[in-house]
Amino acid sequence: MLLGDTCTRGCRFCAVKTSNKPPPPDALEPLKTAIAIASWGVDYVVLTSVDRDDIPDGGSGHFAETVRALKELKPAILVECLTSDFRGDLEAVASLANSGLDVYAHNIETVRSMQRIVRDPRAGYDQSLGVLKQAKACKKGMVTKSSIMLGLGETDEEIKQTMADLRAIDVDILTLGQYLQPTERHLRVREYVTPEKFDFWKEYGESLGFVYVASGPLSFTQEELVLRPPELRAMLILQSFALVSFMIAYT
Ligand code: SF4
Repeated sequence: MLLGDTCTRGCRFCAVKTSNKPPPPDALEPLKTAIAIASWGVDYVVLTSVDRDDIPDGGSGHFAETVRALKELKPAILVECLTSDFRGDLEAVASLANSGLDVYAHNIETVRSMQRIVRDPRAGYDQSLGVLKQAKACKKGMVTKSSIMLGLGETDEEIKQTMADLRAIDVDILTLGQYLQPTERHLRVREYVTPEKFDFWKEYGESLGFVYVASGPLSFTQEELVLRPPELRAMLILQSFALVSFMIAYT
C-alpha cells in the first residue's frame, strides 16, 4: 500500500483513516517498496493506495515511479496497480498506465444508483468508467480489471447493467464479492449473497466476454488471482499475442 495510510476521501463502506491533509508521501517509498518486493521471491504483486486528492497528480507519479523501479529490479514480475480515480484526471491515468504495469485495476465498487450512498461524493460511476477506458486505450494489450461489492441493496438488473457497462469499455477481469460492514458506523449489509448466486454471476459475467470472473463471498480481495498466477501469467502472455479467443476458452 503506497502513499500512506490516510485517505482524503470518506467512502461509507471503508474503514481506512481519513484526513484532508495527510502527511506528505515518503519520496523514497518507490525505491524502498521496489527493493522490498524484489526480495520476496513473488512473481505477482498488487500495488494499491489510499486516495490522495491533496497531491496535484493524485499520486499517479509516485505509483509510476514504484512500478518503474520494481520492473528495473525484477523485470519478470507481473505488477497490478489498483488505483484511485485520480479525480478523473486522464493524464494521471495515462502516465501510470504507461509506466510498465501489467494490470490496471480500478474498482467501480457498486451499481450506478448506489454510488452516492456508498462512495465519497468525489467518486462516480462515469468517472470510474472513464479511468478504465483511458487505461485500456493507453497501451495495446493492457489488461484492465474492476470489482463490484454485492449485498448493499443493488438489484440483479443493476448488476447486469454494471457488468455490461464494464464490458462495453473492454474491461477484462471482474471480481464480485460480498460487502461486509467493517464497523457499526458503516453501511449495513442488506443481503448475504449465496455461494450459488455468486456462481451464477461468474457464469453470467464470462458469458458477456470477461476473460476471467472471480465471484465469491471472499473474492473482493485479490486472493483468487494470487492463487492463480500460472493462469493469469498465461493470460497476459496470450493477450500480448492477441490470442484472445484461445484465452477465453482456457482461463
Ligand atoms: S477512496 Fe478508497 S481508501 Fe479512500 S475511503 Fe474510499 S475506498 Fe477507502
